[in-house]
Amino acid sequence: MAWFKKVRKPIEASKNESRVPEGLWVKCPSCAEIIYNKDLAATINVCPKCAHHFRLSAAERLRMLFDGAWQEYDSGLQSIDPLQFVDTKPYTKRLEATIKATGMKDAVICATGAIDGIETSVAAMEYTFIGGSMGSVVGEKITRGIERAIERRLPVVIVSASGGARMMEGALSLMQMAKISGALARLDRAKLPYISVLTDPTTGGVTASFAMLGDVNIAEPKALIGFAGPRVIEQAIRQKLPEGFQRSEFLLEHGMLDMVVDRRELKAAIVRVLRFALARVAEPEPAVP
Ligand SMILES: [Zn+2]
Repeated sequence: MAWFKKVRKPIEASKNESRVPEGLWVKCPSCAEIIYNKDLAATINVCPKCAHHFRLSAAERLRMLFDGAWQEYDSGLQSIDPLQFVDTKPYTKRLEATIKATGMKDAVICATGAIDGIETSVAAMEYTFIGGSMGSVVGEKITRGIERAIERRLPVVIVSASGGARMMEGALSLMQMAKISGALARLDRAKLPYISVLTDPTTGGVTASFAMLGDVNIAEPKALIGFAGPRVIEQAIRQKLPEGFQRSEFLLEHGMLDMVVDRRELKAAIVRVLRFALARVAEPEPAVP
């Protein structure tokens, strides 16, 4: 019998794998290069050595897309707790803490502004807000953003970064999938273009609704994009999944995406698509003989 028993503590996993930590320097998780924070900001959070794409906040995303200032809408909308949901802590407490930490009321910023001079309605999701999950507020804000575009004849760009529907709001969060899809159908009938930008990660109910409904679907390199996670799929189909499964490049190869674009080229690519689509919108309808 041993006199001393060794208490084994599991090694804690790093929580900030793909986030830029506070401080002056950051280590690239892909190539281990040590990068000066200011250099990283200059390349819009893309590693200058290996092109690893660090995650971008919603505000940084808007700064990257818009030419200058933008007009934000519905920033005051806040979720209530219709199910009085409690998991490891009550949903109200989780919301309170997240609002305090992020300075945002929910996981999306909706705004209008100019992208290379083209007035556009943009929604950018914030992954650090409860995993960018889509509850009733995210659904309502994005729907309003699309309706605003129809009213003012603007194109729509939605940048997704989400773990999917927000389970703390149950069926109400699932309903947002249909609500946003319905608004996108009205946008389509109004002959206005919608570009979906899928970033790391875009999963669950967001992939299963608006993220895949773009007239053009553009993803950032190596982004995780899928519906269910690989472990769940492997268990369901009892097969090993192929290499690179659920990453942008794999999905492009299999016809699920139209383009995979490096973030440093992304704004230019969006502008090209917008100009192409809007030229079609402006063309007169062909005369019926
Ligand atoms: Zn790197």
